[in-house]
Amino acid sequence: MGSVDFERNRIYSRRQDIHDHFGGQQQGGICTPAGARVIFAFTGAVGQQHGYTDYWTDDGVFCYFGEGQTGDMTFRAGNKAIRDHAANGKDLLVFQMLGRGRVKYLGQFMCESWEYKPTPDRADAMRQAIVFHLVPQLEQQPPEPAQPLAPMDLASLRSKALAAGASAPNRSAKETRHSYHERSETVRAYVLQRANGVCESCGQSAPFCKPDGTPFLEAHHIRRLTDGGPDDIHFMGGVCPNCHRAMHYGADREALNAELQRAVDTKEAGLNAALASPK
Ligand SMILES: [Zn+2]
Ligand SMILES: [Zn+2]
Repeated sequence: MGSVDFERNRIYSRRQDIHDHFGGQQQGGICTPAGARVIFAFTGAVGQQHGYTDYWTDDGVFCYFGEGQTGDMTFRAGNKAIRDHAANGKDLLVFQMLGRGRVKYLGQFMCESWEYKPTPDRADAMRQAIVFHLVPQLEQQPPEPAQPLAPMDLASLRSKALAAGASAPNRSAKETRHSYHERSETVRAYVLQRANGVCESCGQSAPFCKPDGTPFLEAHHIRRLTDGGPDDIHFMGGVCPNCHRAMHYGADREALNAELQRAVDTKEAGLNAALASPK
């Protein structure tokens, strides 16, 4: 939280606006500043010199090449950081390099899956490149699903949400777009069911009910300034609309988010223990 406040499509100085604040590698495509809850991925220029280009599919999935200039790419360093960003509670911010140190912010993305693609390396030898399937995150709360998920008990919904949490290998970019929405709904439904009508921040009952009689709470991504899109159940809270606004816009939002994270940690640890040891 805090100083991550980039505006989509605005142009920034890579050094002043990113590295001076967050640290991290000043060269190369993937920047993983130590201790920060954020990963920066840069697209453009670098890859093109090596004979490949990141691209968008018709379904709105951004195919982003991993790092590694020669030989097969492996899941270490930046590649590992991107694959595991959601599980590690890190936001993935993508910037387009415009030259002379200027970068354009493309927004926050979710790494949904990845595949290997035979691609020439720097020496023009064919090798396996890792291509990440990145889906842009929505800026709004997603609309209520037209077809709500079938009712499920908390334990089943939790295992479904946990299974949905890992980024899956070797899925096509087309499948990725679909799974993104399904996953998003599962994780969100779970978080709201976990809250069970009581705000996970202030501990008060939901202020009103929806027309179907269920209590109104919202799913909040604890480490993100904008909501929407799937994340991990460990980094989301079900909160009342009042607390939700405060989490985003309040003067004490950092403290509120930190407190909510602790509450969620405690709750999830409890559920883990309860569900792991059947009575
Ligand atoms: Zn509340
Ligand atoms: Zn939120």
